[in-house]
Amino acid sequence: ASLGVPRAAATDETRAALTPDVVERLQDTHGVEIRVASGVGTDAYHTDDDYEAAGATVVSDDDAWGADIVLTLAPPPPERRTALSDEQAVLGLLQPLDAPQVLADIAKQGATALPMELVPRISRAQSMDVLSAMSSLAGYRAALEAALRLPKFFPLMSTAAGTIRPASVLVVGAGVAGLQAIATAKRLGAKVRGYDIRDATREEIESLGASFVELELDTSLSEGDDGYAKELEQAKQERQPELLRPHIAKSDVVITTALIPGRPAPLVINEAAVKDMAPGSVVVDLAAPNGGNCALTEPGETVTRHDVHIMGPTNLPATMPVHASELFANTVRALLDYLLNDDGTLALDLDDEVADAMCAVHNGTIRNERVRSLLD
Ligand code: NAD
Repeated sequence: ASLGVPRAAATDETRAALTPDVVERLQDTHGVEIRVASGVGTDAYHTDDDYEAAGATVVSDDDAWGADIVLTLAPPPPERRTALSDEQAVLGLLQPLDAPQVLADIAKQGATALPMELVPRISRAQSMDVLSAMSSLAGYRAALEAALRLPKFFPLMSTAAGTIRPASVLVVGAGVAGLQAIATAKRLGAKVRGYDIRDATREEIESLGASFVELELDTSLSEGDDGYAKELEQAKQERQPELLRPHIAKSDVVITTALIPGRPAPLVINEAAVKDMAPGSVVVDLAAPNGGNCALTEPGETVTRHDVHIMGPTNLPATMPVHASELFANTVRALLDYLLNDDGTLALDLDDEVADAMCAVHNGTIRNERVRSLLD
């Protein structure tokens, strides 16, 4: 069987879905034939020669798309979807809940879709959890971007010319990205506060040396069985930004990461809150690809509104292609160790929790209920 790694269609993509190290490992363990499109690793400093030395064949993009299993960092463009055959499987970041039509198109071809976003968040599957790996990179980088943009120091500075008070950083949404942003801002010396609607986050925020922001909002039922947040009731959704306003007003930097799977990003910072912030303050909105947590975010842009810099990055992991590729490829390796037979063909044991959750499309059928309901 063959595994193809085409080039990414997006111009801001720098990551390689497989690294030469992982190519070598996969060939050793599964005897799978690996075809990488020429130039796949350029931004991550892996040359075509490196991949060849590791045992891959360097091919054209078309040939990579023709492999039995196609590995991709983003949903395939329409013309690639309609060219799939019923013998093929697509594995990768397919945005199943944000772009369900992609899966419908793949089903129409009779092909198999294995969105990596659907790996269940259970201990056994931790090494296959690409979302956590990418969120760590994004959270770290969000804190750095904020520090660079802020016209102030992050740490306390005692100098002969005066004492500078540390910057005040608020992180809203303390999942994987938020906690990494908190840890990074702490290391840079800022005074950090965190907030999330899931109760469990209080302890995690405090264990990083940050303080938890208390709002007068009952969020005790906000965690679903899957560990993800559930959307707040309408009235609470409307109150939350107002309750956060005074906390936002006294922050130099607000980093937001609040997301509910399959829903538009919740509004955390309204325009009034932006106006309250001191001139020169910074908002980094990691929910930008899902519509943003700040009312004034423009995805992919940095805009200045009411003298506040609002950054809406859409692919921060791609700013660190070396480690982003390494971590991505490692999760792919863990997944394939699990999903491949000894001869390199796919072994989809649908009685198994991980394979069952990941196999969103198979034999022309959309198996994932949430994806189906989004398409209705
Ligand atoms: P995410 O990216 O979907 O959401 C980010 C955060 O936003 C979440 O913590 C969520 O509670 C929060 N949020 C949603 N609405 C909000 C609002 N209105 N205001 C404030 N915060 C809001 O989540 P994630 O980072 O991918 O992780 C979600 C959960 O999964 C966490 O509990 C995490 O620890 C858990 N997890 C478990 C595993 C595992 O066991 N293998 C791996 C990774 C993550």
